[in-house]
Amino acid sequence: MRTRHAGAAALAALTALTLAACGGSDVGGEGGGDETGGAGGGDTIKIGIKFDQPGLGYQDGSEYTGFDTDVARYVADKLGYSEDQIEWVEAPSANRETMLQTGQVDMIFATYSITDERKEQVAFAGPYFIAGQDLLVAEDNTDITGPETLEGKNLCSVTGSTSAQRIKDEYAEGVQLVERPGYAECVTALTAGQVDAVTTDDIILAGLAAQPANKGKVKVVGAPFSEENYGVGLPQDNDRCEDINAAITEMIDDGSWEEAVTSNTEGTGYTPNADLNPPTPDACA
Ligand code: GLU
Repeated sequence: MRTRHAGAAALAALTALTLAACGGSDVGGEGGGDETGGAGGGDTIKIGIKFDQPGLGYQDGSEYTGFDTDVARYVADKLGYSEDQIEWVEAPSANRETMLQTGQVDMIFATYSITDERKEQVAFAGPYFIAGQDLLVAEDNTDITGPETLEGKNLCSVTGSTSAQRIKDEYAEGVQLVERPGYAECVTALTAGQVDAVTTDDIILAGLAAQPANKGKVKVVGAPFSEENYGVGLPQDNDRCEDINAAITEMIDDGSWEEAVTSNTEGTGYTPNADLNPPTPDACA
């Protein structure tokens, strides 16, 4: 009896100590605590993002803004990397798999859809968001209302994207597809009258349409025709998938995810598909 009580008391005291230690080091300390163990103090982590997608991944002087960067910062912190240990690297759509395979980046948060084809080359954590492929047209356009109305039209999308691939696979007939390295270039072609429409995920198009230079000139059609599950791209031999999924779940549960969606889509008129968001991360392979 005595022994059991003493044991229980000791255990309770230990639990209290442990809880106090954890509680005390919360947000900032979590990064600090792991730096020595997990990340190895002073280490940096290379994160691939888009530099030209306002509201998602955007380089604004020396600042990096957008929903992808906010999710990346949150996840990196949980993995033990503070913001100043993040090295942001531009990851254009066509280069993502290679960048992960050659170690140019450790993780990618770049509107990167999880697909079976890509899983043959890289791994994914998440999804952390679900978007849908849509069309961007001139403000006064009335004849393009969906992908089946593109016959005889010039369409711009990005090399290496699921957006360009879906057009080739499902709507190729009669559509002239022009490929560019980034969506901002496609929007420039649209406002210059060189193409009739731009296609990619609705949230990307909404961010570009709300840019001061494009406002009033273009509009998102608003009839999404795919489900794009944004994953965290990882090398196939990574050991981080579980921890990243736990961080994404925590970000959703503590309200940070919602806050990041709202602040990064403010003024664009975009609202995420509430039937699909927030998503539940898939089991790691
Ligand atoms: N989500 C799509 C993809 O991963 C289109 C956006 C992009 O190119 O990043 O290909």
